[in-house]
Amino acid sequence: MPRSELLHRLAAETARRERAGLLRRLRVVEHGDGPWLETGGRRLLGFCSNDYLGLAQHPQVIAALKRAADDEGVGSTSAHLICGHRREHAMLEEALAEWTGREHALLFSTGYMANLGTLQALLQRGDTCVQDKLNHACLIDGAQLAGAELKRYPHADVAGASRQLQSRPDSAALLATDGVFSMDGDVAPLRELAAVCTREGATLMVDDAHGLGVLGDDGAGSIRAAGLGQREVPVLMATLGKALGCSGAFVAGSAALIDGLLQFARPYIYTTAMPPALAAAALAAVTAAREESWRREKLAALIARFRAGAAELGLALMPSPSAIQPLQLGDAQVALDTAQALEQRGFLVGAIRPPTVPKGQARLRITLSAAHEEADIDHLLQALNELRRMPGAG
Ligand code: PMP
Repeated sequence: MPRSELLHRLAAETARRERAGLLRRLRVVEHGDGPWLETGGRRLLGFCSNDYLGLAQHPQVIAALKRAADDEGVGSTSAHLICGHRREHAMLEEALAEWTGREHALLFSTGYMANLGTLQALLQRGDTCVQDKLNHACLIDGAQLAGAELKRYPHADVAGASRQLQSRPDSAALLATDGVFSMDGDVAPLRELAAVCTREGATLMVDDAHGLGVLGDDGAGSIRAAGLGQREVPVLMATLGKALGCSGAFVAGSAALIDGLLQFARPYIYTTAMPPALAAAALAAVTAAREESWRREKLAALIARFRAGAAELGLALMPSPSAIQPLQLGDAQVALDTAQALEQRGFLVGAIRPPTVPKGQARLRITLSAAHEEADIDHLLQALNELRRMPGAG
């Protein structure tokens, strides 16, 4: 029976992953309160969320969500192009375009869908899509969905990117890169990549999921931090589920880009619009992210404190200026054991293993937030130091 054959194969692949010690497991968080998480009946200090500015618990963001839900109900009830596009969505799009210095913005229900939809609408079979090897999975998947020729260059290797563009056949090309890399925390060489794109006649797209709100003047992200704008980076995608503490995503750029996505981006067209109350919450989060610059400053100070403390202890942090501060451990089992030992000491940190990162590069993905306090950072450093001294740990 073909159906059971497929399920058998899937089960065999899962078993193989389990034997390799790489099985992914869900954990139920019973309650979240800023960086504090209750799970399995224990209260743990989390260094694993993407709530970099602490806006997921912002009273005005919560109030905006409640107010809009009282006014509008919960669901948007339809796709944007039918009757799901509410005033809250339109206001949020306007605010996002203004913040990022672009003509227009278009909301998507998730960042994954925003990248799929953008690449699928922009690229056609025969086009070339050049990408950093460490780009997020949904950029890779988007190029494949579009049927474009996908060429990947070594991480942050500008000369490699240039070579990939030069060696393409006579085809239109998109160069797509994360602004801040999700598992390494470093920033893409955007100025150099923009220059390569200009020289080689390619369009540059930046996924700034982890840069928006955190980097650049006014928190406008990695493109602003690099001194670039819509002219050099015509396609910006960013998410609302990280520094903005909500959920969803947007693409921003010229009127022509946004009009085109509205016509052709299937993951935009054929899906239910995000709840209007969520758009209202995200609008309040944008306002808070811009007005409360102390959050960015506090985060930057915590990052500096963590990096200085780690350097003193001789811990192998990666060269990251962002809220993502991975501790490279190499072996997947060591990463898992270290995360478990930290959990016993009251900390929740994600162990990132292959295939999410390359083999031999398992790590703890430590993320910092303006919701943390200096003492939280010091306690984590102390625990990491104790673990380092334990035989067999990292
Ligand atoms: N791009 C990057 C760089 C990401 O890290 C993520 C989320 N982990 C996404 C896109 C997808 O965004 P979302 O979670 O909103 O689907």
